[in-house]
Amino acid sequence: MKSPLDSREKKFVLDFAERNAAATAALGDSLFYFGELGLQEYRSAELMGAMLAEHGFKVERGISGFPTGFLTTYGQGSPVIAIHSEYDANPTNSQQSGVAERAEIVPGAPGHCEGHNVNGAVMVVGAIALRYAMEKFKLPGTLKIFGAPAEEQLLSRPFFVRDRLFDDVDIAFHDHILDEFKADYGLIQSATVSADFAFRGESAHAAMFPFKARDALDAVVLMDSGMAQYREHLQPGMTAHRVITDGGVQPNVIPSRASIWWYFRHPTAEGARLLFEQGRKVAQGAALMTNCELDVNVRSAVWPVRLNQTMAEIIQKNVEAIGMPVWSGEEQSFARALQKQAGVPVMGLRTHVTPVEGPAPQIPASNDCGDVSWKVPMGRVWFPGNVPNLAFHHWSAGAALATSIAHKGAVAGVKALATSVIDYLQTPDLMARTKESFKREIGDTIYKPLLPDDQRPPVELNRAEMEKYRPQMERHYVRERPVIQP
Ligand SMILES: [Zn+2]
Repeated sequence: MKSPLDSREKKFVLDFAERNAAATAALGDSLFYFGELGLQEYRSAELMGAMLAEHGFKVERGISGFPTGFLTTYGQGSPVIAIHSEYDANPTNSQQSGVAERAEIVPGAPGHCEGHNVNGAVMVVGAIALRYAMEKFKLPGTLKIFGAPAEEQLLSRPFFVRDRLFDDVDIAFHDHILDEFKADYGLIQSATVSADFAFRGESAHAAMFPFKARDALDAVVLMDSGMAQYREHLQPGMTAHRVITDGGVQPNVIPSRASIWWYFRHPTAEGARLLFEQGRKVAQGAALMTNCELDVNVRSAVWPVRLNQTMAEIIQKNVEAIGMPVWSGEEQSFARALQKQAGVPVMGLRTHVTPVEGPAPQIPASNDCGDVSWKVPMGRVWFPGNVPNLAFHHWSAGAALATSIAHKGAVAGVKALATSVIDYLQTPDLMARTKESFKREIGDTIYKPLLPDDQRPPVELNRAEMEKYRPQMERHYVRERPVIQP
């Protein structure tokens, strides 16, 4: 039987991925040690955009008002294929790579604990591989590569879609790390409204004149209690979680300002919106009780991610032919040691591609590419590069991200991404079939962004936290710049 990888175009991108394994690793490691929080990914975006520019992509930075976002373009005409991914880290998760126990690089600092550093590397190297394949084999079409900041705050891609950057796109690919190698289809993630509730009152000396104050922190506490009471009445699938972002400065001054930041989730966009509206009512009640004023700021709002079946079938075929990376004994023992230390089932690394047997179950987590997936058919390459059973956003999920496990997984990811895009550049009726299946899947749902029309990106988000740690983190940066061999 003919392998789905059996064409000179695909051989070219497969060889490209192998030849550039070291550069891919160096890029992923660079992003790992940058460890930049959402909207502060200045160094990550600079490096990725510069690499794409060096290889002939036209680079546009600052798209939709995101200083750390970029759109790079190569080629011209139809089809227009987008690849987008994220590269942000998480707070407080600094973790030494290759160490199977909790060991921070810089105490308290941000760090990658999921693998978005590898996502970025796979996107960039995959895009460059495709660009050279398009030139060499005279494949017509346009690649649009989107650098998408602040995935963890669900920020950028709803803005890109709202601002019409996907209007001329035919299909979109997303690449994301996992411990598995596969494609999925169906409704796989949930919708979220992310909103900040800022209360304003009046300060006073807490001991001498509390009766003169209007306590904004009281309002935050009451909103939190109100939401806790409301939890009993949440519709199935609704979840809400929060952090207090401003709770005052010192106990002897009653806070005149206090804020709480909520994520409201549901499997549907409408459900997330309804829960947000309930949250707003609870906040208004809290403001009323405390004589405070309230400002509600929707930071972002995303639709649930859905993945197209036709694209999943194309990706999966390539994934199965590429196969899992071959792990060494050392890599397997590291994975087992890490699983043991994290207190999760010990099974080492997976050695087989995950089969696709029907639509994937919908999980409560979200990704800000949800809006993209309702605008155009979207496929996701899940590539192996992390250790099974670890919980993302836990230190343990950061321990393999600059090791040979992540490096081998990234090469597999580049191969799957590039070969699947090649299918779309080469198979005449595939695009039409994909659009047809997308239309069927969407049915009568009308996509309308949840994001308010006039919302601007909160570009100051995470700045103080990042600047606090950056000087110490700089000492650990990878000095060598990744060099791609075309
Ligand atoms: Zn992620």
